Amino acid sequence: MVINSHSSATPASLRKTHRGMILSRVQSEPGISRAELARMCGFSEMAATRIVRELLAAGIIQESRVSDQDKAKKKHVGRPKTGLHIVKDGLFAVGITVSAYHSDVSICDADGKLHASSSPENVAFDTVADAARAYASALRDLIETSGIDVSRIVGVGVALSGRTLPDRAEIVTSDYFGWANDGGQFCREIQKIINLPVEIENISNALAIAEMRFGGARDVSDFALIHAATFVGAGVVSDNRLVRGAAGVSGLLGHFRAEDRPLTCVCGRNDCLNLSATGFGLLSRLGKLDHRAFDTSKLSFYATALLNALDDPKAADLVSEAGQNLAPALDSVAKLLGPKKIILSGYLGAHDCYFNAVRQALTDHFDYGPHGSFEIVQGTIPSVEAAALLALHAFCYSDQLDYDRFALSSDRNKGAQHG
Ligand SMILES: [Zn+2]
Repeated sequence: MVINSHSSATPASLRKTHRGMILSRVQSEPGISRAELARMCGFSEMAATRIVRELLAAGIIQESRVSDQDKAKKKHVGRPKTGLHIVKDGLFAVGITVSAYHSDVSICDADGKLHASSSPENVAFDTVADAARAYASALRDLIETSGIDVSRIVGVGVALSGRTLPDRAEIVTSDYFGWANDGGQFCREIQKIINLPVEIENISNALAIAEMRFGGARDVSDFALIHAATFVGAGVVSDNRLVRGAAGVSGLLGHFRAEDRPLTCVCGRNDCLNLSATGFGLLSRLGKLDHRAFDTSKLSFYATALLNALDDPKAADLVSEAGQNLAPALDSVAKLLGPKKIILSGYLGAHDCYFNAVRQALTDHFDYGPHGSFEIVQGTIPSVEAAALLALHAFCYSDQLDYDRFALSSDRNKGAQHG
């Protein structure tokens, strides 16, 4: 569990931190009792009970009795046992995923289940502001037609291909847009249309956060998520925390040194993993490229051509070759970080043929096996959900939950029902 704590430990900030801890625990252990909550979070039972009472009053969690059938089975005596659960439609999060493959706006419920999504058409935008307004408008339309209570949305998540500084809500560079540092304009424009807090991450980190809280990495504290599509990048979680590096830039797996190729990476080199273990490298081997240097104006072409190649049985050998080329880098990652899992994600990474080739190469050349220290698995969360789950993580299951707003909105709803 990760609690974002930027504030000093005043009683009010401690209360927010504790609320985030309790709420996270109820989400990850449905049916948990107050006593178990207190023990697991290290609080007194009285403190846990007080926070539980607040969350119940705000309609964020609910209490359910163990069913009569269960009671008969367990032959309970005394007070009936009750358990705490997240109210699935008690809160929602919304998100914008921007990619060359397809862009999506989505809504997920408080339990991380996809509630609604739509895919706005990918068009070229002249400015950062134009793009932000187009995506935010598509998201606003989705919210309006979804029928959810808009007063119960915690915030907006943005996941995109590029380098981001989440603390400053900035895009540092984005190959997809071909933009340099946006000074936070993308997130500010979204906020003008959807008046809610915005959290931004690159796609690898957003997927890592989503897998950590809602997906295949819930049960591990150390893992690496490898996102392989046109290029390859990584999101690394160590001791339940995302590794960001001193300058906020980490996981640059695509620029690991590998074999020389007759291609040029965005960084200017000819020996990056981006040229041999990725969609770009694969398209070159398939003879689909009429140029050698990676060209950001051709991202849509790379995306479409890769999806076609993955559907083509004749390309299977070269897809496998690309997967084999990733294996040495994963062996280095495993030896350096000691992860419990390595999760392969993205259109290429989660593709069976590529995934199986990576695993086979690790087995054949790097002693990977069932009794090894880590497990290699396919991602469980599609990119369409990553952005909304990022918002849920940032603004619901953390000390950033705007409790007062939801307590008020819950009161108003109750008033409306009885009035
Ligand atoms: Zn490079």
